[in-house]
Amino acid sequence: MVLEPVLCPTCESSDVVKHGQSGEDKQRYKCRNPECGRSTFIREYAKESRNNKLDNYEAT
Ligand SMILES: [Zn+2]
Repeated sequence: MVLEPVLCPTCESSDVVKHGQSGEDKQRYKCRNPECGRSTFIREYAKESRNNKLDNYEAT
């Protein structure tokens, strides 16, 4: 199992901290970048499934 760094999906900063859980075993994170408009986020699943989702979105 490879431990990937968690990046904020908005500013792509790696300066994030764990911020409790959001049900269903999803780890919630908090972005510490003061210039980032986003405060908390949930880590996305595997990049592969995310790309598939994007492809479907563009197709419709
Ligand atoms: Zn951010």
